[in-house]
Amino acid sequence: MTRPVNVAILGATGSIGRQTLDVIDRNPGRLRLFGLTEGRRTAGRTVEHMIQGQAGEADFDARVGAMVTDPRCDIVVVAIPGARALAPTLAALGAGKEVALATKEVLVMAGALVMKAAGPRGIRPVDSEHSAIWQCLWGEERESIRRLVITASGGPFWAHPDLDLDQVTVEQALNHPRWSMGPKVTIDSATLMNKGLELIEAHHLFGVPLAKISVVVHPQSAVHSLVEFVDGSLKAQLGRPDMRLPISVALGYPDRLAGAVPPTELEDLGPLEFHPLDEARFPAVGLARSAAEAGGGRPAVLNAANEEAVNAFLGGEIPFSAIIRTVGGTLDAFPGGGETLEDILEADRWAREYVKISSLRT
Ligand code: MG
Repeated sequence: MTRPVNVAILGATGSIGRQTLDVIDRNPGRLRLFGLTEGRRTAGRTVEHMIQGQAGEADFDARVGAMVTDPRCDIVVVAIPGARALAPTLAALGAGKEVALATKEVLVMAGALVMKAAGPRGIRPVDSEHSAIWQCLWGEERESIRRLVITASGGPFWAHPDLDLDQVTVEQALNHPRWSMGPKVTIDSATLMNKGLELIEAHHLFGVPLAKISVVVHPQSAVHSLVEFVDGSLKAQLGRPDMRLPISVALGYPDRLAGAVPPTELEDLGPLEFHPLDEARFPAVGLARSAAEAGGGRPAVLNAANEEAVNAFLGGEIPFSAIIRTVGGTLDAFPGGGETLEDILEADRWAREYVKISSLRT
């Protein structure tokens, strides 16, 4: 392509959005900021679409739809949190755009629909674990995969087995040992629900059965994830925790953008540890696995109940340990539903309402 790749960012003020702007600025001949939502960071640049306002407002949603389907737009970076990323993702895919996806909820809620809309070109992952797996799979055949292994830092509480999870504060839960991220994903890292959501995300992105995807605790966050092949070979992708790398991989594909992050000195990584996940203390991954296996809107319920419970925790309304109890209770109460977009959105609404009115919040 002779002209730079036109990149639209949904969610330019968040952590991923800001780092995406940084990646674009460092690659001026290659990438161009085409449009963005929720940002004022356009100083010195001409953008075709600058969208401010609130999602859900008809005008805002219509302008986002126009941006992501604009014939001049090449790649849409989806980095707005939660369920509201679903509609613009489907619109972009429907218009034949490449999607670089940071919002894992989109695949958790509606993975089958989204991957069908993406077709053979698939989705470019921005999540670090999925970017690692994607890179390990370049040039490999699907039939050669024996297992995907997602690494988990374990969050701030994994290394403190005696800590009472009923007593931890919002400040403690927001203090992630390795990654600097938004509050929702940081709490999800502390409950390990982030890994539960990533398990479902990997299942859809790579078309690998849930039973062939495992989670291992790796406190150094140097190995971003691994793929085991049928011959016994294990491939891993390593680097320091820096989201500009998965963003650069997604925007540069199939090329690599030189100098995306500083080189990693292996000596600086120190000893690398791998531990089994304590599923009794951190039941979130098991809950997510069961919800995805059962289907019928349950992954959407898992996601919505978790979002509401995390907000309740951040608002001081429920203790930390009640987040996953609330998700489990909501899944138990869900009567089950269909798999169309309307069914999924209804399951999402049902779960949010259930969390708000149920007595589980005690
Ligand atoms: Mg991740």
